[in-house]
Amino acid sequence: MNTTIAERLNSALETIQDSARSANRQPNNISLLAVSKTKPITMIEQAYAAGQRLFGENYVQEGVDKIQQLSSLEDIEWHLIGPLQSNKCKVVARHFDWVQSVDRLKIATRLNDNRPEDMPPLNVCLQVNISGETTKSGMLLEELMTNAEQVSKLSRLHLRGIMAIPSNTDNETALAEEFRALHAGFVELKTRFNSVDTLSMGMSRDVALAIANGSTMVRVGTAIFGKRN
Ligand SMILES: *Cc1c(COP(=O)(O)O)cnc(C)c1O
Repeated sequence: MNTTIAERLNSALETIQDSARSANRQPNNISLLAVSKTKPITMIEQAYAAGQRLFGENYVQEGVDKIQQLSSLEDIEWHLIGPLQSNKCKVVARHFDWVQSVDRLKIATRLNDNRPEDMPPLNVCLQVNISGETTKSGMLLEELMTNAEQVSKLSRLHLRGIMAIPSNTDNETALAEEFRALHAGFVELKTRFNSVDTLSMGMSRDVALAIANGSTMVRVGTAIFGKRN
């Protein structure tokens, strides 16, 4: 790509604004998570210099290394969006600001037990497996409410909403149907829990469709940082 990270960030923000306007929504109700997995620190610094503050990482060790190296940039908000095993919960609870990939109660409990008292409660999203593919992580939409009920009782966690990765398809009708089902789950969750404000769905290729269907946070990697190896 011949463009700079600052330019690509700007066009990602423009896409969010245009999509919000077309959907009669307020652009400032939709946040941009810059997904920096596999990309070097220097690229994160460039995005930060261009004004970006929310960053998403997939791999625990890589994420923790970056958080430590960039600890002087105090207002970065770090989100874990990749699969989390229970033996990694302690290090994650000590470093990240958000975990969007909470896919079962055991993970929530471990994060809660390991969140240090001198840090604010850890923000969490429950990951929903909307495609129903058994290879994907996440709970079924049918399990969302009972799990949320339990998570909401954990005092070191702050239940913020839902994260989902839709089916890997170019079929917009099928994708929109999954986004709508997630949005319905989000609306119900919001009526039950005051802390809920986040529906994390939409990636580089489907930002507009996700926003048309109620997303409040899009997770964009490739369109900002370029292709990954
Ligand atoms: C990698 C990743 C993204 C970003 O995907 P792009 O297609 O590069 O925008 C978003 N969400 C999750 C969970 C990811 O793993």
